[in-house]
Amino acid sequence: MVTLFAKRALLAEGWVENLRLEITGGAVTGLTPDSAAQPGDTRVDTLLPALANLHSHAFQRAMAGMTEYRLAGRDSFWTWRDLMYRFTAHLDPEGVEAIAALVQMEMLEAGYTSVGEFHYLHHQPDGQPYARLAELSDRIMAAAATTGIGLTHLPVLYSYAGVGEVPLEAGQRRFGNNVDRFCALVDQARGALRDLPGDCRIGIAPHSLRATSPRDLNTVLAAHGEGPVHIHISEQPKEVEEVLTGLGARPVDWLLDNAPVDDRWCLIHATHMTEAETRAMAASGAVAGLCPITEANLGDGPFNGPTYLAAGGAFGVGSDSNVRISLTEELRTLEYSQRLRDLSRNVLVVGEGSVGQSLYSGAARGGARALGRRAGQIALGQLADLVAVDGTDPALCALEVDQLLDGLVFAASDRVVTDVWAAGRHQVRGGRHVAREAILARYRTAIAELLPRL
Ligand code: ZN
Repeated sequence: MVTLFAKRALLAEGWVENLRLEITGGAVTGLTPDSAAQPGDTRVDTLLPALANLHSHAFQRAMAGMTEYRLAGRDSFWTWRDLMYRFTAHLDPEGVEAIAALVQMEMLEAGYTSVGEFHYLHHQPDGQPYARLAELSDRIMAAAATTGIGLTHLPVLYSYAGVGEVPLEAGQRRFGNNVDRFCALVDQARGALRDLPGDCRIGIAPHSLRATSPRDLNTVLAAHGEGPVHIHISEQPKEVEEVLTGLGARPVDWLLDNAPVDDRWCLIHATHMTEAETRAMAASGAVAGLCPITEANLGDGPFNGPTYLAAGGAFGVGSDSNVRISLTEELRTLEYSQRLRDLSRNVLVVGEGSVGQSLYSGAARGGARALGRRAGQIALGQLADLVAVDGTDPALCALEVDQLLDGLVFAASDRVVTDVWAAGRHQVRGGRHVAREAILARYRTAIAELLPRL
């Protein structure tokens, strides 16, 4: 058993002071507010439920900063995607693992305790499978074993280049599987997952309505009756038009009418929705997987937040392209995208209340649900997914306790994070990951080998 002592903590029922918290087997097994610290307790200032990062493509971290140069003509999401394809052509398994470990470490240091890895890089550069089909899934899991992050691994079904079963392009060969090979890959990955701690999970991710077909989607859903289901949806207007033309309905409308969407599902982006789609998605129980920094970086557009929240929709956040790993910036970008569109303030809260609390607690609960983790609040029996922040930081020290999450989201940076426990694994201490130097050294070596090949 591990014990913590926090000067204050946000429990499921609200703020408490002088909390002793016990962790056994990765879960919270004791909560005693108004206590005194005992010898052997790990002491922290302010303890919060940690967030899940519900959407990541780990390898894209190494491309950060390579796509911010304007070429003649108008740059777009689609030119960014072309560069991403060229980049993937040169990645080897060692590079995939080294980059994944780096970005998982950065996530933990930012205060995330888990990640949904939406994993579509499966094969060798020429499209041939590796000798072991799930080689690159194994590498993501090996990175998780190194970093201690709570992994929800989401192998991606990617079969087509567009609606109507358009054959894959050359740049997509490393991603491609038909349904049979995909199911074999998921089975292999599920086997490998047994080497990770028990909180790690596997789900499936049909890439998008563009990259699968209605028939294939039904087949994989029937074959995988449990675990999270994630899908990219309505990120770009061009995608909405393509689905409308090819399938006869807008993407979210089509999915809700043709798939058993419920609280197992996470709809990534869901940017371009009508009011009716927004309300229907909220009612489905699915989590909206919002990726505000990436959506801003790629020029996707703002989420329809006010309607979605008013309809009781669940949401979480993800770092997606991993151009920048910052939990606080992710949440504030989400709110600022709404303010800029609506020429308004304090948008993402229903009725009256703290926007920071609405964003943080909402993303904690929704993110955990999307990753299939029993987490998202500090309560008995929940996973010990915990983050400690330094309430004496200049960004926080002037605030009342009920303003702390506003300070964290709008005024602070991730440097206020002191300690992180992922299902009880104490991976960040004093703001640094416990294996930081080794992970950094391996990443630098991998990048030095990769760069000349680009
Ligand atoms: Zn994505």
